[in-house]
Amino acid sequence: MRFEDLGLEPKILQALQEAGYDIPTPIQAEAIPEALKGRDVLGIAQTGTGKTASFTLPMIDRLSKGRAKARMPRSLVLAPTRELAAQVSESFETYGKYHKLTMALLIGGVSFGDQDAKLARGVDVLIATPGRLLDHFERGKLLLTGVQVMVVDEADRMLDMGFIPDIERIFKLTPFTRQTLFFSATMPPEIQRITDQFLSAPARIEVSRPATTAENISQHIVRLPSGNDSLKRATLRKLILDTKVKNGIIFCNRKKNVDVVATSLQKHKFDARPIHGDLPQAYRTETLQKFRDGEIELLVASDVAARGLDIPDVSHIFNYDVPVHADDYVHRIGRTGRAGRSGHAYMLVTPADDKAMAAVLKTTGLDNIEAVDMGDFFDQEQANARARGRGRPTRSNESKSSRSSDSKSTRSTTESKAPRSDDTRPSNPKPVRDDKRGGRDRGEKTVGLGDHVPAFLQRNGV
Ligand code: AMP
Repeated sequence: MRFEDLGLEPKILQALQEAGYDIPTPIQAEAIPEALKGRDVLGIAQTGTGKTASFTLPMIDRLSKGRAKARMPRSLVLAPTRELAAQVSESFETYGKYHKLTMALLIGGVSFGDQDAKLARGVDVLIATPGRLLDHFERGKLLLTGVQVMVVDEADRMLDMGFIPDIERIFKLTPFTRQTLFFSATMPPEIQRITDQFLSAPARIEVSRPATTAENISQHIVRLPSGNDSLKRATLRKLILDTKVKNGIIFCNRKKNVDVVATSLQKHKFDARPIHGDLPQAYRTETLQKFRDGEIELLVASDVAARGLDIPDVSHIFNYDVPVHADDYVHRIGRTGRAGRSGHAYMLVTPADDKAMAAVLKTTGLDNIEAVDMGDFFDQEQANARARGRGRPTRSNESKSSRSSDSKSTRSTTESKAPRSDDTRPSNPKPVRDDKRGGRDRGEKTVGLGDHVPAFLQRNGV
């Protein structure tokens, strides 16, 4: 099957050829002909399957005829996160380069004024996150009655983020004659209900999820003796130093942890930056671009910020936390080992993570996961922590491990280009308590409870 066989017009084929795409992916091969016929499509596919092109290409085809009216977009794409929305707009630019389609991106963190000016001129393609779209609508700046094609991308993630009532409302603001292209990686009952209500006899296309036990991704777990945050961070640093990381993404479950881990890595001269939903949009965009361009080595990310991001060629994934939803494990490690390259995934597992870990194993059916023995390192870390607790000056472990790995020379280039932590912080960073008050990394220790300090007693609260 070739793109020429799908019924796309020559200008799109030309753009595809220039983008270097020869063969449609399975979701493209199945969805594009149906969408071109004007049918609704229900695509059960996750990121990495080529689903973005499976809706942008037929949309460009359909929108190539006709003109947009002021404040009445002709098509609408809803995406859960700003990054994903921006990525969809890049796809329109790539595949639509020979069409004169006008486009507006309505995402938070960007001024209303510029977005409004575009809407006023009339747009063929409106790409939006649900909240920002409704903000514009409520200001009376937008009419959705001219929408001919509506796309919902990553619907299950919208559900996780609480956007389903917004989506229902937006559906009701568009004409029932619209064509709907709806994508979700999974079909929980709430999503099924929405599709039953708003899609009309859709072509249901399901493509298999990327294999989680892909031979080209080596998967490892490290079992930690305790959930101590300082130990977790030291273990992460040790892993990064020991595993020849070219570039990597470190996943944390909470935004607060993202900040703490990124700041801690910066403090130890790693070339790392945080990315999560509370950071300023300009900083998020710049960070992603720099990471894509290879100017930043490590991205510390939350699931939502990283979901669906198309970042080719990441050598390592570090699960700093075991994901709460086992499905997220699949999404996380799917960031590496792309396009047949080899990838490496590591996950830190504390005694408190046993249940979540069991869920990951059950969901993924993993059988090739390898446990890394870091017993000597933990013994040394714990001995150092005890010495610190007794107030004795001690050589910190991390500097020791950095130095020993430096001598192996694997870090020399990245360390020399690592910016000062001030340079890598967002322009409007959230205060990180660890920095302000002196966390356990700085030698403070809650005494009297041995190594098992309940989280709520730890001063840095992470
Ligand atoms: P998506 O699932 O839409 O996020 O796409 C994942 C990646 O696959 C993106 O980098 C696309 O540029 C790329 N891609 C999409 N379709 C094709 C294709 N037919 N051939 C090669 N790469 C593709």
